[in-house]
Amino acid sequence: MAISISAVVGEYLKHFPDDSAGAETIYKAGEFARKAHRGQKRKSGHDYFEHTAQVALTLALWRLDWQSVASGFLHDVVEDCDISAQTMEETFGPHVRSLVEGVTKIGSLRYGGEKESAESLRKMILATSKDLRVIFIKLADRLHNMQTLSFLPAQKQKKIALETFEIYAPLADRLGMQNIYGELSDLAFPYLNPPGHSWIVKTMSESYEEREKYLRRIEPIVRQQIERVNVQNVAIDYRAKRHFSLYKKLVRFDMNLDQIYDLIAMRILVPTIDDCYTVLGTLHQLWPPMPGRIKDYIAMPKPNGYQSLHTTVFCVDNRPTEFQIRTHGMHEYAERGAAAHWLYESKKGSSGSSSLHDLSWINQLQDWQRQFPGSEEFVSALKVDLFSDRIFVLSPKGRVLDLPIGSTPLDFAYKIHTDIGSSCVGARINNKIVSLDTPLQSGDMVEIITQKNRAPSAEWTRIVKTQFAKKKIRAAINRANPRPKKTEYKITSQERMGLLKDISVVISRNHVSIVSVSAKNEKGLVATRIIVDVANKEKAENLMLKLKKVEGVKTIAMRQL
Ligand code: MN
Repeated sequence: MAISISAVVGEYLKHFPDDSAGAETIYKAGEFARKAHRGQKRKSGHDYFEHTAQVALTLALWRLDWQSVASGFLHDVVEDCDISAQTMEETFGPHVRSLVEGVTKIGSLRYGGEKESAESLRKMILATSKDLRVIFIKLADRLHNMQTLSFLPAQKQKKIALETFEIYAPLADRLGMQNIYGELSDLAFPYLNPPGHSWIVKTMSESYEEREKYLRRIEPIVRQQIERVNVQNVAIDYRAKRHFSLYKKLVRFDMNLDQIYDLIAMRILVPTIDDCYTVLGTLHQLWPPMPGRIKDYIAMPKPNGYQSLHTTVFCVDNRPTEFQIRTHGMHEYAERGAAAHWLYESKKGSSGSSSLHDLSWINQLQDWQRQFPGSEEFVSALKVDLFSDRIFVLSPKGRVLDLPIGSTPLDFAYKIHTDIGSSCVGARINNKIVSLDTPLQSGDMVEIITQKNRAPSAEWTRIVKTQFAKKKIRAAINRANPRPKKTEYKITSQERMGLLKDISVVISRNHVSIVSVSAKNEKGLVATRIIVDVANKEKAENLMLKLKKVEGVKTIAMRQL
């Protein structure tokens, strides 16, 4: 079903009824995209434009600003239609340009499939996007691509599903966008684990139905009980646990469905935090709680900011039944996420409740937008500097490396492999030759030029930022120029009785031990070669001066070994 431009504009105006200028720009962006993508088809056979309209609609449904919605329409035109970023800026302004460019850039990052690099790639996406709206657009894009994944060849399906599962779903989760996280995971599930998925679908359909009927039966009892404690403005609903999260849980519980009490949980939404605890208390008066199943995510929110009270009670017919109790604001948050809040919370160690928890990020965004309509402040309020002390750069093969800020191509080279570091003779950043001390920026693609039989120079220790590289460089230098351990003296002296004894007395007085001594006579002179156990050059020179004073010594030469 094709989505019209007006439908997107209409959805936008629902949330921003006064912003006719924004609505107009969205309309213009829609027209622009339709024209730019004319003639292009998706694998599904649909017009390409429909994909961009779907992405724009999703962003409008998420209640994002006009720049995001317009960029939803435009997100593929730079990549697929040869429209320049310059044109973007001239037609729609610098913000739309940078959003579209940001989305295009993320699109070029590839996930190789190794578990370790998934985390780096997620961080890199966050770090290089800066503006969170770029990620929202990318998530809306990915959502539609997953919904239409069945049209692609099997090989590609698997790859895209894996990338979604490892990169984009976890990003949504971190941003507190539970719905998107759940939907992306569920969409990827059948491609990544076909037998697991069909087992769930087959096994669950009856249980879901039966479970929902049961909850409908107890709902009036719950309502009556809540009325009794005088909590007003209560909303109750029940949503089935999503397939993938159910599967994950079942795996933990030996596939025993009897262990899953939240197959469908009843949600009770109330106005205030006090109401949450009141409702919890009154439910526990009605039905006994199951020990160990009461969870207070209001006092102790989950790392992604999720807040709610959970309890499982022995309900009607003694059936274990889960209830989730939260405020309307917390519910909105659970559904839509709170980027700003997540940032705050992910700094480990902070816990407990803060007033931030009650604010859904959507409200926050809207507040900001009201405060600074269309201004730089609004945009910078959305910008996040998540990993201000780290940068994320790419190898030519698309591997993401995570380095401290200020790192240079040499740090990068050593991080890839010590041999690459040691044989480094030059570097390219984004295909341009640069000097080895150039600081890297997040998003840079770095290529190291190597040459065989090259050795690191001492200079390098001043260029690198990472301790790892410093250590490796020092080790290589020491290997090339091993530190002197011993000192050799060649002494020429006149032949006389007791000469050798005098020399050895001087040496031992200086607390130095002799390693070896040899002497031979040459034309009435004695050439003595003494090796002593002295590594320190100063000490060795000192000793040389003392030896020089020994009676009969004519010349003395010193060499450190
Ligand atoms: Mn797209």
